[in-house]
Amino acid sequence: MRWGLVGASTIAAQHMIGAIRATGGKIAAVVSTTRARADDFAASHAIPAAGDQLALILDDASIGAVYISSTNEKHHAQALAAIAAGKHVLCEKPLALTVAEAAGMIRAAHVAGVVFATNHHLRCSGSHRAIRDLIRGGRIGRVLSLRLFHAVHLPPNLQGWRINDASAGGGVIPDITVHDADVARFLLGEDPVAVVAQMGTSGMGQGVEDSAMSIWTMPSGAMVQSHESFTHPFAGSGLEVHGDKGSIFARGVMTQQPVGEIELVTAAGREVVPYSTHNLYAQGVADFLAAVAGQGAPAASGEDGIASLAVALAVREAARTGQRQLVKVPA
Ligand code: NDP
Repeated sequence: MRWGLVGASTIAAQHMIGAIRATGGKIAAVVSTTRARADDFAASHAIPAAGDQLALILDDASIGAVYISSTNEKHHAQALAAIAAGKHVLCEKPLALTVAEAAGMIRAAHVAGVVFATNHHLRCSGSHRAIRDLIRGGRIGRVLSLRLFHAVHLPPNLQGWRINDASAGGGVIPDITVHDADVARFLLGEDPVAVVAQMGTSGMGQGVEDSAMSIWTMPSGAMVQSHESFTHPFAGSGLEVHGDKGSIFARGVMTQQPVGEIELVTAAGREVVPYSTHNLYAQGVADFLAAVAGQGAPAASGEDGIASLAVALAVREAARTGQRQLVKVPA
């Protein structure tokens, strides 16, 4: 597959270029809003073509797939343009700033007959897949609750639009709560239907929240508790799933790397749970390519991206108003 990159971003540089190349892909071009930046990025990553116009990618018939990792407010228009040009699209989360925009992207992809996927990497990790297998295999019985710990310290090189630009989609809720929503949906196999929440700033956010806590109602009756922050240097990440026959404790697993420990505790005692340590992003690209080849679905579809966005926006609205919010996912 020949790929075009839209966005000369950190995530492309640190993870996705390697993931695309690891799955046999060729990166044909990168487009940035700034010509000089595109040129620098292309030179640093051995990408043969660079420019500041989407047409560089969209008019190249040899490019089959587009990876979009610009700032969040740009995803919508860029994805629609790529879809209209007949490209398959792997789009970063959050898909857009509103559920209506995200729904428009997915509708357009369906009409055009292209694959449209969301780059939710955590469901691609061996650890999360192993946890889901434990749940599905009945090892903890009926799920009673899920606790998601995702309070991290945003590295200095990312302390830009994420912490000070609401119009670019900044804030911890569009940044990390979307991932947690996707994890809950992936692990439990059901969609949150209502949320209560609080958000605030704790040292980094300027005009956008840098911390959030929320509680989600699931159709099964399971309770979900979620914590995200940009300001916690030593909190560590993880998740716990508690059932009536066992509990799963996963530490250090809400990351970009295939790391962390999983422990299963039941009446039989404690056991360490092994899992595959493959690259999360390469797995996501491999699943995307399989979908393009007509063999299955991408790891996270466009519909998954809408659902995670809908939960995140409901969390923000619940925190803003102090009122419980229903999660509105378009049918
Ligand atoms: P960056 O800030 O690194 O990049 C986003 C855009 O900002 C780039 O496309 C670029 O615009 C511009 N930019 C980046 N660095 C500079 C710079 N030094 N000077 C000027 N402009 C710059 O963001 P991320 O890579 O962290 O995030 C990009 C997207 O990916 C977001 O949607 C985010 O939510 C998502 N993401 C997803 C992750 C995942 O695991 N799925 C992890 C991290 C991010 P231009 O291209 O126009 O030059």
